[in-house]
Order: sequence, then structure tokens, then C-alpha cells
Amino acid sequence: MTKTTIKKIGVLTSGGDAPGMNAALRAVVRACKYYEIASIGIMHGYEGLIHDDMIELGPRDVKNIINQGGTFLKTARSEEFRTKEGRQKAYENLKKNDIDALVVIGGDGSFTGANIFHQEFDVPFIGVPGTIDNDIFGTDYTIGYDTALNTVIEAVDKLRDTATSHNRVFFVEVMGRDAGFIALNSGIASGAQDILIPEQKDSVEDLCNSLERSEETGKKSSIVVIAEGEQLGGVYEIAKQVQARHPEYDIRVTVLGHIQRGGSPTCQDRVLASRLGIAAVEGLLDHKTNLMAGIRSNKVVFTPIDEAIKKHNEIDEELIKVANILSI
Ligand code: ATP
Repeated sequence: MTKTTIKKIGVLTSGGDAPGMNAALRAVVRACKYYEIASIGIMHGYEGLIHDDMIELGPRDVKNIINQGGTFLKTARSEEFRTKEGRQKAYENLKKNDIDALVVIGGDGSFTGANIFHQEFDVPFIGVPGTIDNDIFGTDYTIGYDTALNTVIEAVDKLRDTATSHNRVFFVEVMGRDAGFIALNSGIASGAQDILIPEQKDSVEDLCNSLERSEETGKKSSIVVIAEGEQLGGVYEIAKQVQARHPEYDIRVTVLGHIQRGGSPTCQDRVLASRLGIAAVEGLLDHKTNLMAGIRSNKVVFTPIDEAIKKHNEIDEELIKVANILSI
């Protein structure tokens, strides 16, 4: 690593919370100590920068958080940071607190904000992808995704018990406004009869055909996993349309909602967050900026932030095939 001029790094969590953000924060703080620079936690995302709400953090201040969901720094969606005046205030507080660079843990919106801030005030930053949706280009996995998947399959396993007992068809809505990664993977892992995702064109007719086909082969209950952003009008509308075609079905709808964001992070998320938190600090000390630290084929990689924001990970066609074959 080349000699650095960075003496203090500010770290914040922004946008939607995700399990593992605390593990990433802990890694940033401890890596700073390891490389003998100071770290400061910025509360409530960009709001803390604007309102000078920050706390100096040392290695012991981040004890006992690696296992906790949510974010100890809190997070926020800051409307003020979207304005030039808000960002000017943020910059003044940054200078006041002698912060030389930022680690931004969040999603593509948070990275967009950091990028604009960098263009205006030349503040170096590295992004760490923390979002349950796994929809960020430049990393195979985002922090929180694995935990969310495990939360979903635990819930669907429970629904399966009652579905089987009563010969019911359950429509389960999972998170994913723009991306079907949670739905597709949790659907395969929980043995769903059908999986509806935003990236694929579906129809109620195809769904009914699939349910009928499985019924003909002796299936008495079914689980259908539906991503929030699916394009047929939402889980209740889909259930209504299937019920109209099949009044004999005992249909139930479950919206898993925010339980998918909570809970203690899985081993995979804790390790990922630990690696990316350290990589972000090392990147900044190595004069890198406007990059996102991610993981590709189990190696830490840096992706230009513009690409991370603009490009999207594609749904793996092989997974769709797997889901189709197994729903026979
Ligand atoms: P998630 O994927 O969980 O929604 P996110 O980081 O994409 O996380 P957003 O709400 O889109 O969440 O963005 C978080 C914050 O980043 C915003 O509240 C705002 O403060 C800042 N931000 C987003 N876009 C911009 C922008 N164009 N200019 C300035 N700041 C922005």
C-alpha cells in the first residue's frame, strides 16, 4: 500500500437497512485502527452529515454488534442531501470533523448521492453494497441478501405445514420491487410450485396451468412465491384471478414484508460484510475512490461506482430452468 494522506474515515449506513450492516461497520472501524487512522460513525445516513450527528468509534465501541441485525448507526432516506444546500452543509461538517474520506454502506441510491457529493466537493469514497435485494452490479452478493433468503425459507417452511394440513394454495409475497433474486432463490429452496418475478413475463393462465398440472399428478397443496415487483398486479390481484378460475381452491395470501429485513445475519453475510468493510478502508488508503467493493467468484473486487449504479445483475436462466423442472 502506498503512503496515504487519509487520517480519518467517516462511515455511514444509508437507504434501507440490511442484516450485516453492523458487521461491515465493525470491520471498517477495526481496519481503521489496524492501519492507525481514526474512524467516525455518522448517524442516520446522510442526515448525520448534514446535522453534525457523529460519534468517534474505536474497536471496543463496535463489540457485540457482529451478530445484530439492523444498523447501530441507524439509517435514513435524507431528502435534504438531494439538495445542493444540504450537501454544502454536509461538506462543512465533514471539514469541521476532519473527515478525509467516506465509506458508504447502502444501495445504489446511497452510492448515487456519494458520487454527486464527490463531483461537487472532491471527497473520496468507497461504497459497500448493503441491501437485501442483491440487485447491485459488481458483486455476486450484497450484504443482507443471504440472511433475507434464510428468513424467507424459514417462513415458507412454516406455511407449507399449514398448506399441507388443509390442502391450501398459498401465495407468498417476498421483497424485490425491481429484482427477483430473493423470490427465485427462496422459491427454489422452499420447493415452490411457481415463482413469479419482475424479470419474466408471466400470465395467470400459465400459473393456473401449472397448478392444474400438479393437481393432476396428485399434488394437494401448493406454494407460489411472488416478488413484490411482479407485473400481474400484485399478490392479492393474482390470488383473486386464480380464485375466480378455481373457486374450489382454498387460497391464502401471505405478505412477508419487513420481517425479511430483520434478524441476526447469517455466517455468509457476516463474513462478506467483514471482508468488504476492510476492503473499503484499504481501498481508500490506497488512493482509490468512486468505487464499490464487492465479491466476484469469492474474490474481493472494485467496480467503478457508475457501473455499480447503472448496470444490473441478470437473473440466471439456469435457475429458472431448475425452478421449472422441479415444479413438475
Ligand atoms: P435500498 O436499495 O435499500 O433502497 P438505497 O441506498 O438505494 O438503498 P435510497 O433511498 O435510494 O436507498 O437512497 C438513500 C439515500 O441516498 C437517499 O435518501 C438520499 O439521501 C441519497 N440519494 C439518493 N439518490 C440521490 C441523488 N440523486 N442525489 C443526492 N442524494 C441521493
